[in-house]
Amino acid sequence: MNQELIKDFNFKKKFGQNFLKDENILRNIVTKSEVDKDTLVIEIGIGAAYLTYYISEKAKNVLGYEIDESLKEIIDKQLETRENVEIIYTDFLKSNPIDDIKKYDFKKLYVVANLPYYITTPIITKLIEDKIPVEKIVVMVQKEVGDRFNAKPNSKEYNSLTIFLNYYFEIRKLMDVSRNSFVPKPNVDSAIIEFKRINKYKANNEELFFNIVRDSFKFKRKNLKNNLKGYNLEKIEKSLKKLGKDLTVRAESLTIEEFIMISNEYEEE
Ligand code: SAH
Repeated sequence: MNQELIKDFNFKKKFGQNFLKDENILRNIVTKSEVDKDTLVIEIGIGAAYLTYYISEKAKNVLGYEIDESLKEIIDKQLETRENVEIIYTDFLKSNPIDDIKKYDFKKLYVVANLPYYITTPIITKLIEDKIPVEKIVVMVQKEVGDRFNAKPNSKEYNSLTIFLNYYFEIRKLMDVSRNSFVPKPNVDSAIIEFKRINKYKANNEELFFNIVRDSFKFKRKNLKNNLKGYNLEKIEKSLKKLGKDLTVRAESLTIEEFIMISNEYEEE
């Protein structure tokens, strides 16, 4: 990997450009992600293709998305020796990956991304909404955020996003990454988080399930009776009773399983 290529590059803050320069960590990410020759990797946010360089060594193919076209020359040079990489210069959030992956033949599809933290959630949401058949997502996030994804009921960080993510994925931290591993050096430390797709939960009507979850958390201090005013509260009360609860409970005390039960029973009759 060639780090000389960026010596005249002007980093753009608005695109969250902090390149991961530590070769040990780059290799480690690829190893721990278990990328292999059956895997198509969608990499989002290519930068100077440091990570791409190592992923493409182990993967069958890499399909990359990069918003900043001015990186093209650097990326092309970095990946001179690689024949299994395609880069699309566009905003991933506006892209159409389901079409883009059609021409590839693969057994497993992974997403790997070291991106500005604030687009992590929109990206995961897009992958689910676009029904991209992704088995694993490996993303860099701010260290403090890393633990929040696994927040338990009744904790401060437990919210509708926690439920949404844990419904689809088993989430764990792969490693911490010091701020010193990046150029330019950011103000915070990072962590690599793995989201592994699971089929543990299945609500009969997922749209209804997520609507109930989202609305239940609408106003933090309010209970279900107040947050679910637009619903048939009698039905919900009936389900809560079976759980030994009533409409005065707050959303943060309910588990995924309990929300699934409430939404399934809401559907009946
Ligand atoms: N993955 C590289 C680069 C990290 S910097 C590395 O680890 O070194 C983040 C990169 O994401 C930048 O190159 C930035 O231009 C790109 N980026 C930011 N927002 C993007 C978006 N919406 N779609 C695609 N790429 C984006």
